[in-house]
Amino acid sequence: MAKEKGLTPQSQDFSEWYLEVIQRAELADYGPVRGTIVVRPYGYALWENIQGVLDRMFKETGHQNAYFPLFIPMSFLRKEAEHVEGFSPELAVVTHAGGEELEEPLAVRPTSETVIGYMWSRWIRSWRDLPQLLNQWGNVVRWEMRTRPFLRTSEFLWQEGHTAHATREEAEEEVRRMLGIYAKLAREYAALPVIEGLKTEKEKFAGAVYTTTIEAMMRDGKALQSGTSHYLGENFARAFDIKFQDKDLQVKYVHTTSWGLSWRFLGAIIMTHGDDGGLILPPRLAPIQVVVVPIYREESRERVLEAALDLKRRLLQAGLRVHLDDRDQHTPGYKFHEWELKGVPFRIELGPKDLEAGEAVLASRLGGKERLSLGALPVLLPERLEAFHQALYQRALDFREAHIRRVDTYEEFQEAVGEGFALAFHCGDRACERAIQEETTATTRCVPFEAEPEEGLCVRCGRPAAYGRRVVFARAY
Ligand SMILES: [Zn+2]
Repeated sequence: MAKEKGLTPQSQDFSEWYLEVIQRAELADYGPVRGTIVVRPYGYALWENIQGVLDRMFKETGHQNAYFPLFIPMSFLRKEAEHVEGFSPELAVVTHAGGEELEEPLAVRPTSETVIGYMWSRWIRSWRDLPQLLNQWGNVVRWEMRTRPFLRTSEFLWQEGHTAHATREEAEEEVRRMLGIYAKLAREYAALPVIEGLKTEKEKFAGAVYTTTIEAMMRDGKALQSGTSHYLGENFARAFDIKFQDKDLQVKYVHTTSWGLSWRFLGAIIMTHGDDGGLILPPRLAPIQVVVVPIYREESRERVLEAALDLKRRLLQAGLRVHLDDRDQHTPGYKFHEWELKGVPFRIELGPKDLEAGEAVLASRLGGKERLSLGALPVLLPERLEAFHQALYQRALDFREAHIRRVDTYEEFQEAVGEGFALAFHCGDRACERAIQEETTATTRCVPFEAEPEEGLCVRCGRPAAYGRRVVFARAY
């Protein structure tokens, strides 16, 4: 692969830029079966860092990890009417196994509410068995005809949290708590400014009473749903007969929730931060935070490499994720280009003259270089990484602010969704929402929680608006 050739500029073809950067930064490649991808070590390391942060936050809030089967009896999926209707078109079903036709076909899980509901109906008897706070890390299958790595793949990795509670209030609190964790991951780790809000009836999870979401804006102005948390009410409890005897001795249905975040989140990071030079990774999740590139000739090789290795050791001691690129077969220029493409936040250039001066050059992936003393680097780099995170977040926030418009006419609306997000009133009617989608390809992303209460008329049909505030509309991945 000719690494010297530049990427397709974002402004020319954003979609092509995305596909190229994923391949060339070695995040992922296409699998032999249509719709599948292979996540390569660099991409998997990024996913592992996301997992690490989430897993810690899940456990801090009382959740435990468990594992449920990949195969689900088809009859389970049919028990919740909306659920089966929503997932049927994308189910993969096993009809044969062990050389025989199965008595009952098995769905490869598209999500695990049903099988977990079935198990809970056996495990939950009394209020003492509640709450159930579970999380599962795993893969699910939703058959897709068009693949886009991380965004649309037939099999994907995710986590799915499932909880059961004695009361509606407790379950709804959980829904918001977990959405809050996703928002924290987005803002404080991935440097993604996200909008938290409620999905409309049309866009909610199949089988939920309501769905909450975090929505991020990509650099082409489109939205990416980056994590969702659902209140399922008693829907699955009734379908699977999950009842408990409460303190008042009454037998009641439990209230359940589910919440999930998938490797789509990698897509959000790539498309929010990347530029024409390649990826730009947020320091708190980047597999490599700083790369040391030694610059030497034959006669200075040993001296420079020794100093570079010493620097690497001291940076590791300072708790940084550091890589020393000591490959002899590539020029420094080639290495600079490659690490820029891979989005490493900082590069340290160390040559014989720098060494004599006791200094090194620190280059930021956001632009700019500075000379720093070798001794001070382990102390200064954490500060620089912190500032990098803040700058990345601010840059994304400024971009979003510049591409979000409050609109009141359908004409303005159509312009706005061509460039970014539109904040508009909507009547709440599903048919009207579908018509907007057909006419503009934009969908409602969410009813934002943090929005001023406002009354108005539907941007398309002119009927009084629902929700008491403006709704976020956008074209979406
Ligand atoms: Zn309307």
